[in-house]
Amino acid sequence: MCDVAILDRVPTPLRSATSRADLAGMTCSACGATLRTGMSWCGQCYASVGVPARRSAPVAVAQQHLPTYTRWRKTDTSFGPVGRVLWTVAMVLLLAMCLFSQDPFAIVAAVLVAGVVLRSVWKRSRLT
Ligand SMILES: [Zn+2]
Repeated sequence: MCDVAILDRVPTPLRSATSRADLAGMTCSACGATLRTGMSWCGQCYASVGVPARRSAPVAVAQQHLPTYTRWRKTDTSFGPVGRVLWTVAMVLLLAMCLFSQDPFAIVAAVLVAGVVLRSVWKRSRLT
């Protein structure tokens, strides 16, 4: 009894809209034959279905709107590969020098400085 009541509440405009969209995508534009989803050409007349054009458009839109990040490429606010590697080498040298000095305060300071610097140097930055 409960199941029937829930099924009755499913909005019918939603159901008919999806089925109509499915039917539109499964009919050959050249001969009107029914096509299976995912086919790139018609099985009856071998006409191209035109799915690739429809598929590539959403991908391009998604690439435009999804931000891409990089830890490696140079952007307006970050170093390129050379700058990042040089900063990393400099911080490793600083750490090594402070370790060799065996001064605990220098080691702590070097770890803190290197941590802050390397975090900002290797922070991923937005490309688009
Ligand atoms: Zn066809």
